[in-house]
Amino acid sequence: MPSIIVHGGAGAYDPGAEHERGLVAAARAGWVILAEGGSAVDAAEAAVVVMEDDPLFNAGYGSSLTLAGAVECDASIMLSDYSAGGVAALRAAKNPIRAARLVMERTDHVLLAGAGADEFAGRMGLPAADLRSERRLRLHEENLAKLCAGEDLKFMPRIRGLADEMGIGTVGVAALDAGGTIAAATSTGGLMMKLPGRVGDGAVIGAGTYATPWAGVSATGHGEPIMRHALGKVAVGAAREMGIRQAIEMTLEIGLTHGFGFGIVGVEENGAVAHGFTTQGMSWVSIRDWRLETFLGTSETEPGAPGDSD
Ligand code: ASP
Repeated sequence: MPSIIVHGGAGAYDPGAEHERGLVAAARAGWVILAEGGSAVDAAEAAVVVMEDDPLFNAGYGSSLTLAGAVECDASIMLSDYSAGGVAALRAAKNPIRAARLVMERTDHVLLAGAGADEFAGRMGLPAADLRSERRLRLHEENLAKLCAGEDLKFMPRIRGLADEMGIGTVGVAALDAGGTIAAATSTGGLMMKLPGRVGDGAVIGAGTYATPWAGVSATGHGEPIMRHALGKVAVGAAREMGIRQAIEMTLEIGLTHGFGFGIVGVEENGAVAHGFTTQGMSWVSIRDWRLETFLGTSETEPGAPGDSD
């Protein structure tokens, strides 16, 4: 029986009705494909595209801006047969997850970055777009003003840190199709005010995205520690021994012990989905057995606690 779980990012926010609307639309777009016998990769891509096109989320249109005011997207996708593709610091492609999938399906590589990734996306016929939303341009101006006023913000103290929110609204999917294939996918504009050229966990297989025959996950949150701890790989590895719910619980311990904020969603081979976060808020929607469940999690309702919905 297929299942899907989508997330709208972990960070310093309280998810509300608009997050729910966007996530439900994304989960349904993926579910329709799965329910008709379609593939997990098509479902994951379709769900991510809905969120990339929604300016509410920090992915595609609506991505965070770098310190220089540009969009540089990271995205990755992986299937349970270990095929994988990613793009990093992609500037112009309207849907970075499509570019990541094309890297997986059409090249001998796993990750393309920067100008080469943009050129590849263009040559593959993906439409280009200016992904800077009005909201992001406004936030950027506000942050520049804070920087000029000498304010320190969290996560990037070395550049007189300018991300008092993490890249809230990163998106991700973990899906299982009727044939038993698992797909995991992540797409993000990355941390707000990041240095140009910075690549986060959203592009990195084993960090933001990982899948095997038994489980797949998409992570979100503070990308640097997610990469240092290879969190995606760790979660999926643990899921083989203890199942996805406990595996996610175990990764939360890592985040809490080392003091970093992240969220993660996952699916396993029997269709069970699970999720957890250590940040102030996280949002996600799952569909399994035609049952849709919505979670608008805040640390007050679930302080660092993993959730499950199988
Ligand atoms: N993990 C992303 C990054 O560090 C940001 C996020 O998930 O919000 O690039």
